[in-house]
Amino acid sequence: MNARRDQWGNVHVVGLSGGHDSTAMAVELRERHPEIPFNFVCTPTGNESAAMFAHWRNLGEILGSSLIPVIAGSLKAMIREEKMLPNFRARWCTRRLKIEPYRQWLKEQTLFGATISYIGLRADEEGRAGGAYDDIFGVEMRFPLREWGWGEPEVQAKLARAGIICPDRTDCEWCYHQRIGEWWELWFYNRESFMGAIAIEQELGYTFRTPGRDSWPVSLAELHAVFSTGKMPTISLNRMGRERMAPVEYDL
Ligand code: SF4
Repeated sequence: MNARRDQWGNVHVVGLSGGHDSTAMAVELRERHPEIPFNFVCTPTGNESAAMFAHWRNLGEILGSSLIPVIAGSLKAMIREEKMLPNFRARWCTRRLKIEPYRQWLKEQTLFGATISYIGLRADEEGRAGGAYDDIFGVEMRFPLREWGWGEPEVQAKLARAGIICPDRTDCEWCYHQRIGEWWELWFYNRESFMGAIAIEQELGYTFRTPGRDSWPVSLAELHAVFSTGKMPTISLNRMGRERMAPVEYDL
């Protein structure tokens, strides 16, 4: 999809992970600068929850233009291609499905004019880096939340004012990084996806879950058997009806 440009031919790109920070930044940018034809970009892996896709659609309506999905393939297809599951030591999924495609897309935009990339890093997380694409000739990085002095309270206040509730999880349903409570929730609320993850584990002979992380079975097939007996992680009981744990965040 062609990017929209301002009258000088510049492309303004807002990377949307779908999390609180980038969502608040995008809405505020839209309100502060109605004259800028922003391009709101996301990098789906095809393994996000239905709630996440609904969030992206809703955001497109609020922002007045559909999000541009930069897609390099799906997590499932790439797992088959790599013949391995991503894990803590080999997080190739983020690189191949998010960082590299986004980088390539930015690079293509610079062929026709300057490209400004807006990244949602907050003022109260100074030490955190992310979205470093200014090594690409023609790309300028902006960090609006830091320019505005926005930390967590300002981000939350913005979301509340806009009436936006971000999904509990913005990461993949099969993310190796998730905790046992989140696996239980996937098993309980989206059995089809959970069974799909079992099939992939059995096809490749590896597990998404890392041994030793908790006392629950490592393989999802065994986990399914245990969950089916009615056992569930305490953390899920505690979290029912409350805010869930922070999702895996990434910066485009
Ligand atoms: S959310 Fe997890 S599985 Fe998905 S791309 Fe990121 S690290 Fe990989």
